[in-house]
Amino acid sequence: MDRKHPSSIIEAQFLNGYKIESKEFNRIPFGEEEIFISGALIPKDTCGDCGVKEGMYHTFRCDQEQCPKCGWQVLTCECDIEENIEIVEATDLKEASSET
Ligand SMILES: [Zn+2]
Ligand SMILES: [Zn+2]
Repeated sequence: MDRKHPSSIIEAQFLNGYKIESKEFNRIPFGEEEIFISGALIPKDTCGDCGVKEGMYHTFRCDQEQCPKCGWQVLTCECDIEENIEIVEATDLKEASSET
């Protein structure tokens, strides 16, 4: 396990997506994983590995994070994550360019 650095937690909140095989995927925040919750691996409050709170994105390489593409643990799945990216929500764009 890595040491916990608050700056890496902050950075992880901005880079909310992964680029996998040239497609963009939204990362899965802590508390929304389907596979780990049932195993009682996680105390529901903070991530046992990287220390983020519920609803926040895990830091990179956290072993509790679920892969948004295949649904397996992101550290050990076979997806090739090319890049950590920032995904801007489409709704924000709509509001910004409201023309009549
Ligand atoms: Zn974590
Ligand atoms: Zn995967």
